[in-house]
Amino acid sequence: MARDRRLPGPPPAHGDFSPADFRRMGKAAVERLARYFETLEARPVLARTKPGEVLARLPARAPEEPEPWEAIERDLDRLVEGNLTHWQHPGYLAYFATTSSAPAAVGEFLTGGYNQIGILWRTSPVLTELEQGVVRWLLDLVGLPWGPDGFDGQLADTASTASLVALASAREQAFPDARKTGLAGRPAGAVYCSELAHSSIDKACVVLGFGTEGLRKIPTDAEFRMDAGALASAVARDRAEGRIPVAVVATAGTTAVTSVDPLPALADLCAKERIWLHVDAAYAGSAAVLPEMRPLFAGWERADSVLFNPHKWMLVPNECTGLFFRRMERVRRAFSVVPNYLETPEGETVREYMDYGVQLGRRFRALKLWLTLRAFGAAGLRARIADAIAHARWLKSELEKEPGVAVVAPAPFSVVAFRWQPEGLDDAAADAANARILARINEDGRAFVSHALVRGRFALRAAVGNVRTSRRHLEAFLDAFRSAVAAESGGRRPPVRRRPAPTRRKSGRA
Ligand SMILES: *Cc1c(COP(=O)(O)O)cnc(C)c1O
Repeated sequence: MARDRRLPGPPPAHGDFSPADFRRMGKAAVERLARYFETLEARPVLARTKPGEVLARLPARAPEEPEPWEAIERDLDRLVEGNLTHWQHPGYLAYFATTSSAPAAVGEFLTGGYNQIGILWRTSPVLTELEQGVVRWLLDLVGLPWGPDGFDGQLADTASTASLVALASAREQAFPDARKTGLAGRPAGAVYCSELAHSSIDKACVVLGFGTEGLRKIPTDAEFRMDAGALASAVARDRAEGRIPVAVVATAGTTAVTSVDPLPALADLCAKERIWLHVDAAYAGSAAVLPEMRPLFAGWERADSVLFNPHKWMLVPNECTGLFFRRMERVRRAFSVVPNYLETPEGETVREYMDYGVQLGRRFRALKLWLTLRAFGAAGLRARIADAIAHARWLKSELEKEPGVAVVAPAPFSVVAFRWQPEGLDDAAADAANARILARINEDGRAFVSHALVRGRFALRAAVGNVRTSRRHLEAFLDAFRSAVAAESGGRRPPVRRRPAPTRRKSGRA
């Protein structure tokens, strides 16, 4: 076989592998991922790994001598691919389904190779300016205003970090110079969110010194939206007790049921009370690329900060969060610390992203997003998000036809929360039954779904969002669901497996 078809041999004693070796490794990696995408459907979505199993197979120390690349490839097959939960599988319906599209995967690969480290504009002008440009594109795509009278922003690693940065900026506004003096001896601060807000808000309050007791979880209404009246009362009570309201966190697309808080009412209250309004639209924000979905977000343009995750629903892999601010100088006031060795002649003529958050060195995160938005185009992106929403609507209507099934919350985007509770089964027994149904579906392997507590009751949650998911995969999920329910009801309904069915009783009794 020609030498250049072979996988790389051991590297020289000094220096990196040769460019020729790198070509062979890289081609094998592309071939591997292409084969992976082609064979996804044959794999069980949820990993069948037992806790500790992978770790137990790793030697205690790194190999002393170079290993042949073939051996490494074999372990990619067995150790790695054998223990993945397949987020890219079209039957992946758990948490929030995501896609690493072809252009985005290429973008990640290039990012690793270029290894730009954006500590300063001059350490990678294109990293900084592509990020500024892509931020402008994102704002435009979702209908938010860009510029001095609108928003500007950055790409963060995750929504969790982004909310921390936003709330740190809110803290600096509420307690000027808290960055110098800390919070000791000051009145206590309070942050407000709904009882359905994401746990990252709790964490931000822990880190920022408000404590979990400084976080007010406001009840939600019948449609799972923050009760604006209860929020106003909580703010008034805190003020009367000498606390300082720092920020209201509105969720547009809650994690459990994707409800949207009443943004106009919250924006009114925050304007009147001079409280920072932060909108966490981590999952749902991408849906605002569709003009017909924009009414759900009305009011977010009045926020002080907004975030959403292109790594959830905009075809790029983790990590990529769009974090947008009005009056970004407020973020800079909270974060800028410039030691002498980071001073540069560019000064104020360039954006120095180190001034707007915790990280100094940042990845070239904009590259994958820029490639992806160009390769699909805005129209291509809109079509795919519209597909996911249409698939979820179909799934919801099918679930509503299933005996004993109730869809337990409105499903405005692409997530359906539902529960099996036939007549005569009490709430606690139904909780346990739904937990078993979930386990059976996930053992079946054709789909992976997760759960949520909805009004304290155990519900299943199917999230459509992977670009590969089509009607056929949702049908396979429904099939797995029906089998799981049949097992639960003691064979009252015919099992779906294609094995000869055991003789069934006519009475249909369990
Ligand atoms: C997914 C999600 C988050 C967390 O996202 P990360 O990027 O993983 O930190 C936060 N808030 C909401 C509403 C979410 O849906």
